[in-house]
Amino acid sequence: MDGAELKIGKFIENNTGDMIRTLSELVKIPSVKGEAEPNYPFGREPARALEKFLEIARTMGFTVKNHENHVGTIDLYSEGEPTLGILCHLDVVPVGNTGWRTPPFELTLSRGYLYGRGAIDDKGPAVSVLYAMYALKKLGVSLSQNVRFIVGTDEENGSADLAYYRKKEALPQRLFTPDGSYPVINVEKGMIRGEFEFVPTLGDRTLLSLSGGDVVNAVPAICDMSLCGVDQSEVEKAARQVPGISVECAEKDGALNVGVRGKSAHASQPNGGVNAVTAALKILSLLEVGDFEKISTLFPFGESDGEHAGVKMSDDVSGALTLVHSIASFDGKTYRGKFDIRFPVTSSVEKVRVTLEKTIGKAGALITAFGGVEGHCVDGNGDFVKTLLESYEHITGKRGRCIAIGGGTYVHETEGGVAFGAEFIGDENNMHGANERMSVDLFKMNARMYADAIIRLCK
Ligand SMILES: [Zn+2]
Repeated sequence: MDGAELKIGKFIENNTGDMIRTLSELVKIPSVKGEAEPNYPFGREPARALEKFLEIARTMGFTVKNHENHVGTIDLYSEGEPTLGILCHLDVVPVGNTGWRTPPFELTLSRGYLYGRGAIDDKGPAVSVLYAMYALKKLGVSLSQNVRFIVGTDEENGSADLAYYRKKEALPQRLFTPDGSYPVINVEKGMIRGEFEFVPTLGDRTLLSLSGGDVVNAVPAICDMSLCGVDQSEVEKAARQVPGISVECAEKDGALNVGVRGKSAHASQPNGGVNAVTAALKILSLLEVGDFEKISTLFPFGESDGEHAGVKMSDDVSGALTLVHSIASFDGKTYRGKFDIRFPVTSSVEKVRVTLEKTIGKAGALITAFGGVEGHCVDGNGDFVKTLLESYEHITGKRGRCIAIGGGTYVHETEGGVAFGAEFIGDENNMHGANERMSVDLFKMNARMYADAIIRLCK
């Protein structure tokens, strides 16, 4: 294999310019989800990115197929049922309004990094896979099994692309996606989203309105409320008992407006955040405004393991459950809350629901919406995962291991799929943010990694 590996390394080196040009063609297309139209299930731009990608693959001599603008497939060989699938996506998240130092839809090379929307998620990794396959083809590396590269266009908005394809065609038995991180993600917790309502009993010291959080899957950084019959000094005193937040008060028309500020974090890793909504609830209960302590007791400030909601649990493969009360509103009568839960793979949506209904009911609140997906777990000691880890160790020289995450990757709903790359945990690549980037070194290394994995799995 060493001879092939050397040749592949050289091939990637010699073709880096073309790889960058290919990526820049793709970054140019703003493939954010758009309005559905006949033949364009996710809008025109994701379809345009897919067509461009398939056209490039066709020019390289691959057999390609566009599955009605949901996904495209590129087979390494024109014949033979594929036993390995690789899954990437060409849709991207919106660019947001601020902070880009370069045009987001123009790939920019600066100090060894490629900047642009999609550079790491997931256009860059898709180009690395394509060139890994191209290297194997051009160098005539002969394998006994076929590989199918599946490129989708709806990963960022619920993966309806993959659901469509799975209805039409069976996925290869072995499947990995370069849309997560190295070494191998084989465990993804289950996920629940729910809503509840609570009608507080209010007194003279009262809450007029409250609004906190804007997305259900993040620790809320902001919660604004308006109080009546409460002094600013009392609020400030209460706020001092809530570490890590800042509070701003302003009187207006006889009411006291209070802005609570915490720190945002992804709901799958809530410990990095400071929850402004549960901080506001704690302040309300310290001030004895209404009976909000009932909700504050369920979702105490500083707690993210669901203990007081009765759902604290963990297992060896996935770690601990996380619970974030992420959105809240109060209109003067009803408090409405939303939460995000990531639970261990050994539990289930139903088990969590039964417990939570009890504890929330006991607090005098009512669950009004509840839904989720079960966890995803692939045997970390099976041949497939072990072989991917071998590739990882061989290419990086680092020790391989399986990891569990709280989020769901592209393969969450598939049977036996894992995430393999394309980033390293801790990389500062600004995924989903401004100045998204990937290093040229990683771009090339990923191509070598995927070529190596294909050879090991399909030789
Ligand atoms: Zn992605």
